[in-house]
Amino acid sequence: MMLQTENMTWEEIDLAIKNGFDTIIIAVGSIEQHGKHLPTKTDSLIGEEVVREVVKKLGNALQGPTIRLGCSKHHLGFPGTITLETETFKAVIRDYVMSLSKHNFKNVVFLPSHGGNFQPLKESITELQPQYPNLKLRAYTDLYGFIELLNGFSIEEEVSAEEAGAHSGENETSIVLALAEELVKKEKFDCGFVGTFGPKEGEIVMTQGIKALSPNGVLGDPRKASVEKGTIYFNKMVDFFIKKVQEFLAD
Ligand SMILES: [Zn+2]
Repeated sequence: MMLQTENMTWEEIDLAIKNGFDTIIIAVGSIEQHGKHLPTKTDSLIGEEVVREVVKKLGNALQGPTIRLGCSKHHLGFPGTITLETETFKAVIRDYVMSLSKHNFKNVVFLPSHGGNFQPLKESITELQPQYPNLKLRAYTDLYGFIELLNGFSIEEEVSAEEAGAHSGENETSIVLALAEELVKKEKFDCGFVGTFGPKEGEIVMTQGIKALSPNGVLGDPRKASVEKGTIYFNKMVDFFIKKVQEFLAD
């Protein structure tokens, strides 16, 4: 059965909702620089593929169209980055939810795959929920928990958290290798910022742009990335989000 609403007809979607597919999950990605070796659509690609697997395994959810542009102001120092202002982003979330509220869904879950989207998404959901008492709106918005989780996967493969990185490092590069190897420029693998990425570094990135921390745009080091590791990380991320969505639906 087709689970991506953008590939379905309205009649198929209507029937699916009536048959209990009343949860819709949406990846919230970005189009922004990802170093010299990864495509600008990296976050949208990862988010979309993760949600594709999550809905497949859940068995009672549909996948809504991925929001491909995110809040990427801190990457504008690099060509190809296209950002939404925070208020534009929140307006997109607002209108997306308003649209879904007309169609008998019970649960709307946003899963961000780009760091800059976590906070505005959290604010959006908090602001919107009171307007939609019949909809359960949820989003995964624990940014540092998410980075720690991903880095933890790498540490299990004997890659340090610093190499795994928060942006285009070993972890993210491995995942893109597993999903779309042909889009990865291996000859361009180059070490970026490999200090600890915590709230302080997050603050520098958000206020001064990522170039202030890393001239090549990478936080981490992609040189230990591999397809094999990427497959492991991807599957673990899918399992993690399935658990999260199940928690959201149960609370
Ligand atoms: Zn990314």
